[in-house]
Amino acid sequence: MINLGHLKYLTQFDKMEGYWRNLLKDYPDHPVLGQEATSVPLTLYGDEGQALGGSWMNYHWCPDLSPCISTSACSRFLICCIPASMYVFDENGVNLTLQAATAAIRDSFNELSTTGVPILDPKTGERVLTLKFWITNIKGDWKFLHQTFSFQRYATFEEVCWMCRCTKGSNDAAWSFTNVHPTAPWMATIYQDSPWLVQPSLASLQGFNLKMLAVDILHAFHLGCGRDLCASAIRMLASRPGHWQGRTQEDRLQSATVRLREYAKANKLTLTLRRLTKVNLTWESSEYPELRCKGYDTFVVCKWLSAELTTRDCGDDLLATVCWSADSFVRVMSKAGMFMTNDEWRHKIHVGHLFLCSYLQLASRALQRGERLWRLRPKFHLLWHVVHEHRSSQLNPTVNSTWMDEDAMKRWMRITRMTHKRTAAIRTLQRFLLGLPAKLRSIEL
Ligand SMILES: [Zn+2]
Repeated sequence: MINLGHLKYLTQFDKMEGYWRNLLKDYPDHPVLGQEATSVPLTLYGDEGQALGGSWMNYHWCPDLSPCISTSACSRFLICCIPASMYVFDENGVNLTLQAATAAIRDSFNELSTTGVPILDPKTGERVLTLKFWITNIKGDWKFLHQTFSFQRYATFEEVCWMCRCTKGSNDAAWSFTNVHPTAPWMATIYQDSPWLVQPSLASLQGFNLKMLAVDILHAFHLGCGRDLCASAIRMLASRPGHWQGRTQEDRLQSATVRLREYAKANKLTLTLRRLTKVNLTWESSEYPELRCKGYDTFVVCKWLSAELTTRDCGDDLLATVCWSADSFVRVMSKAGMFMTNDEWRHKIHVGHLFLCSYLQLASRALQRGERLWRLRPKFHLLWHVVHEHRSSQLNPTVNSTWMDEDAMKRWMRITRMTHKRTAAIRTLQRFLLGLPAKLRSIEL
């Protein structure tokens, strides 16, 4: 990219020193030390997508300081496209295919961190400086991290979390992720030991630190606990007469839909969700309520519920508190810059903690009443880490949300669908590279 004159898409030079000054507070021994002004930070992303009747693992990278970070076509660069049908596992469940692929990716990035790329003066051809590139964050959904880092602790196991030793509480309730009392024993285990049995390839990236594996708020909240929250709250409000007009539950959901759409329109928020129904609230099954909607819909519904319950008393303070605090802590993070101010950071901790505690109280109250409401899934625990993580840099957790990466993923899969299954892995890359110069030219910098 540099040889083709695309350096300007890779970073904003004026922001690099400040970026590293902040980030190195988290990683004081990072080998970038002393070369901050000529070091470009990058994020590695991975996810599986569907095409040609199968799953494909795509890895791409994105410059942390890209000047066009919110245009996925000009800031996300595909590395590989691996058919899941090719996966080979060893007896420990390690995905050998992905380990081999990520070993090659690691070697390539390590060369960029150690040897770097010389920048030449276009007139004289002399070397002006050597740019180095470093992976500073690795993100994707939880399943991707599990696959790529061969976690022994994962959402489907008794020990759920790669950051600590909390459990589902089957053997000892004190170790359960639902125990968020400050004396919970798992809190003393955060980042104390490796979550894998066999060291994964990417753990030997230059400057690697386990804290670089990021929680993706899109999957943890907007496609996870946030959807549980919205559905349980709406179900509580629509179950009985009072808050929304209507004689039957269906009528009350109908008037809630009208209010939601009016709110979205008045606040210029895009809503894909057309109606609130018993079907998309998972009301009639024996499952816990979950709003079947897109990630952005959760953001809008949460914001609307917060407005609904803070302007009109619903007679349930706990319910009003959970909706307000969820919306408030997520909204402050999404509006904050890459590194949060002290006030924003404190807001995240205190209001986020209020959300976690009030949600747990509602879950426990529902359990006592024998109601299937307020599902507590392991993703809830990832939100605990988002709220309470110790990070001197105050790096905004929403920086590692994958909204734009999901957008890029859709594009990779669209390309794959235009190829033949047998040659898809190589053709997808070729077509991506062919289309890239025009994409970059299309954006004004
Ligand atoms: Zn944990």
